[in-house]
Amino acid sequence: MKILLKSSAFILVVLLLNGYKSDPQKTDLPNMDLHVHLNFEGQSLANAAMVYEKTAALSKERGVIFGIAEEFVNDNIKINDSLVLDRCTLAKKNSLYLALQVSRRDWLNIFSKDVLKKVDYILADAMIFPNKDGRMMRIWVPNAPLGEPQEFMELYVAHNLKVLAEPINIWANPTYLPDVLKTRYDELWTDARMKSLIDAAIKNNVAIEINSTFKIPNAKFIKMAKAAGARFTFGTNTHGPGAGDITWSINMAKECGLTKDDFFTPTRKL
Ligand SMILES: [Zn+2]
Repeated sequence: MKILLKSSAFILVVLLLNGYKSDPQKTDLPNMDLHVHLNFEGQSLANAAMVYEKTAALSKERGVIFGIAEEFVNDNIKINDSLVLDRCTLAKKNSLYLALQVSRRDWLNIFSKDVLKKVDYILADAMIFPNKDGRMMRIWVPNAPLGEPQEFMELYVAHNLKVLAEPINIWANPTYLPDVLKTRYDELWTDARMKSLIDAAIKNNVAIEINSTFKIPNAKFIKMAKAAGARFTFGTNTHGPGAGDITWSINMAKECGLTKDDFFTPTRKL
């Protein structure tokens, strides 16, 4: 019985070691989740300090570098600035990158220029915009007033082009489709639509996120973007413990033949 137990333990150790060996994250592609959200109870700095510490511990445990995407949408520049500066300090202290995710299209007016220079990068998606009747859509929300699919796509592509022309570094959740349109991804994302957004990202030096949570963009899009000279990042857009699970993104990057030179990485040394 003792021998049996010992050999079982041995087999378990071998299995575990092999598991680590075949870990898809063991690669020279950047082990970075540059789209991590934190779940705050309010915005108090004391609480944020604790959350940053916990997140840094998770980052170490996973062996994946985290970029924290903060969203401040106050109308008051002073309040936004002070929140950004607080988070910059926390990010530095905890060996994390600090990003600003901008969802208001007038975001350049709600932070001061000097403060914007202090964040490691700026990230934006294109998931909030008006439909043809002027009603604001949050396209991930069920029953958003999307309208007819082709018309929706025309507006969506136009809105993406607007976002991609802003001074941002990462295009997050690229090619995301609302749940009701997901099964039509291949049909709705025509080559022409893909090409126009890829060209815009390259022209403005915006990296394209390969998103593990939504499993987007598809291989066709990534290969087309790589051939055109685009750069990429890995992200989860995760609020909570799933942060850093970039397995899908890494596998996709490998499948599409990406190398570490195809990636945007923040310049600050952690
Ligand atoms: Zn996000």
